[in-house]
Amino acid sequence: MPQALPTWLTPQQFFQAVEEMRAVVGKEWVVSEDGPALRSYRDAFSPEEDDVFLPSAVVAPDGVEQIQKILKIANDYRVPLWTISSGKNFAYGGPAPRKAGHVVLDLKRMNRIIEVNEEFGYALVEPGVTYFQLYEYIQKKGYKLWIDCAAPGWGSVLGNTLEHGVGYTPYGDHYMMHCGMEVVLADGTLLRTGQGSLPGTQCWQLFQYGFGPVLDGIFTQSNFGVVTKMGIWLMPEPPGYMPFMITYEREEDLHAITEAVRPLKVNMLIPNGAFTVGLLWEASIKTTRAQYGDPKKPLPESAMKKLMADHKLGMWNFYAALYGPKPMMDNTFKVVRDALGAIPGAKFYFDEDRKGDPSWDYRVKLMRGIPNMTEFNMSNWVPGAGAHVDFSPISPTRGDDAMRQYQMIKTRANEYGFDYIGEFAVGWRDMHHVFSLTFDRSDADERRRARELFNVLIDEAAQAGYGEYRTHLAFMDKIAGTYNWNDGALWKLHHRLKDALDPNGILAPGKMGIWPKHMREENV
Ligand code: ADP
Repeated sequence: MPQALPTWLTPQQFFQAVEEMRAVVGKEWVVSEDGPALRSYRDAFSPEEDDVFLPSAVVAPDGVEQIQKILKIANDYRVPLWTISSGKNFAYGGPAPRKAGHVVLDLKRMNRIIEVNEEFGYALVEPGVTYFQLYEYIQKKGYKLWIDCAAPGWGSVLGNTLEHGVGYTPYGDHYMMHCGMEVVLADGTLLRTGQGSLPGTQCWQLFQYGFGPVLDGIFTQSNFGVVTKMGIWLMPEPPGYMPFMITYEREEDLHAITEAVRPLKVNMLIPNGAFTVGLLWEASIKTTRAQYGDPKKPLPESAMKKLMADHKLGMWNFYAALYGPKPMMDNTFKVVRDALGAIPGAKFYFDEDRKGDPSWDYRVKLMRGIPNMTEFNMSNWVPGAGAHVDFSPISPTRGDDAMRQYQMIKTRANEYGFDYIGEFAVGWRDMHHVFSLTFDRSDADERRRARELFNVLIDEAAQAGYGEYRTHLAFMDKIAGTYNWNDGALWKLHHRLKDALDPNGILAPGKMGIWPKHMREENV
């Protein structure tokens, strides 16, 4: 069956445009026939069938000039382009476009590490640079710098930052740590943000602002431009590193943990991206549901105790780390121990206690910026084609809110036949609560239930005043609809910006519920 095409184009127009793009990038860098190469751009974790988000073609330029030429062709024919950097945004859509038939603009060939500066601690990278690549480069050069990576190390530094991804070291808020962007607008204009727009600047990667409005944010989670370079701050290697884990036995301990963590984070005593991880998240890294219960049903409470005992886990497992000279870490640790150890049943673990345990080992790596792929084990929790979409509401770092979100999600998840597999990524003042809705993709009924559950969760979270920080393609419109204060003033502004910057609607239609005018009006 031929793949879907943009609905407003005839096949002749579409393939003519693709031919012209082929002439720009070379024939080996365009895919336009249905087959394994095109299907590798499907979302392998989608709660829908593959075809719902299957692109019609892929074009992979190797630099800004080629991008500008592609955008010109796209404007001439009105070809919609979905930009990806490494396309590993799994749980949120992977490499796939929001609409079937749109063309993926794959920037994987633009994978140059333009600069790593050891003196100031930063890197300037192109979109296709992955965490593994940047890490290996720094190791090879012997720079005393750490990166901060997403859990799966195959993703790109730039793509993850644009999605507001978070990591595990003190530099865990990636957008907060970015410094300077280069962007191609839909009309081909090339610009640099911040200090980068001053010719001859020495400060593009040193100072996040420029002169006038700060526009970097509008190029994140959006479809207002193609980001072609980005600076990212890197942490100088500290003289000491002390990761630790604390297990807690009872579900309701989440309240006390969260209350204890808030002042430690707000006052920066715990400096890194700390995580309060639920039992089944931990379990899914190293075992399967079938080993503890019915492989097709949520695990009953009775199995939880055995799981905890077998793997020395808690219902909640708190991970964090201290960094710096030893006397400073020792002093800070006393404060952390008094606060988090005061909760009855708290058990502390260090490297000597858990080395060799896969879930400990990968977190110890992540908290010091060593990329790896261990978290992918999670998909083996369920039988069949394990996949997950992540429901990620933001919560205040407050016990009442954490418990409320946890209970709300867990109850609904069980009702729809899924486990609660969740963790709280503790930021400076908020928590990203990530519920990994894990399902068997080969089972149509599970896919349907996963979608239904997700939709219910969006509504219930919004009613309680909680909004998601990121989402899968399938739920972008619905979540955008929840950010509707004052008659949707913010999305109306997004649409005004979209119409002004990209009047032909060629860049990522539908990203985060932002649609070009003709698609809003014609509902295509
Ligand atoms: P990663 O592989 O690092 O997880 P992706 O390459 O999948 O990230 O990108 C995640 C999302 O970010 C994409 O779906 C797209 O919406 C956006 N994006 C990625 N790269 C760019 C870019 N260079 N310019 C604009 N948007 C981008």
